[in-house]
Amino acid sequence: MKTVTIGNTMISVLTGDITAWKGDIIVNAANSGLLGGNGVDGAIHRAGGPEIMEQCKEIRKLQGGCPPGYAVITGAGNLDVKHVIHTVGPIWEGGGRGEAQTLANCYRSSLQLANEVGAHSIAFPNISTGIYGYPKSPACDVALKAVTDFLLGEPEDNRLEKIDFVCFEIDNANLYVRWLERYD
Ligand code: ADP
Repeated sequence: MKTVTIGNTMISVLTGDITAWKGDIIVNAANSGLLGGNGVDGAIHRAGGPEIMEQCKEIRKLQGGCPPGYAVITGAGNLDVKHVIHTVGPIWEGGGRGEAQTLANCYRSSLQLANEVGAHSIAFPNISTGIYGYPKSPACDVALKAVTDFLLGEPEDNRLEKIDFVCFEIDNANLYVRWLERYD
């Protein structure tokens, strides 16, 4: 589908199931407790097997979960990637409670963590746009602005060559494609 390149990094929009994606890191839209759930979180734990949950529980013991906007990293169990980054999106409460800032922080902290482990590729789901109820169009704006700003702002530290948005729903994919077409 649509692709835009910034520096050495190619941003692409794909459709499908993120658990089938191949590369270095997939991002999970987790909850603060890191104990799994529905949606993409459930799909990742199901496909990855129990090892990911065991590591999430270790992180819980050490730091008591993960606040919204932050990210933690585990191995990937049976998935065809090296790591899973678990980030916690905001629950949509109307938009006046810092949701956009928190959502942008999810993308930024995931990209930072991916760079810290030397990843070259990463795949994001459409964080918060499922059960957490963030409206899709503003969530797309926040996601792509956060990622493009990151790439424009930190070119020397960035080792990511490929950032894929894996959209489970076609209306999300269409929003991302249109945003990137306007960016071009
Ligand atoms: P949140 O609680 O952050 O809203 P959800 O998992 O409910 O998390 O939804 C986030 C997004 O992930 C939604 O757009 C949903 O359609 C999408 N999604 C659900 N399952 C998958 C999957 N297997 N691969 C990629 N995206 C998925």
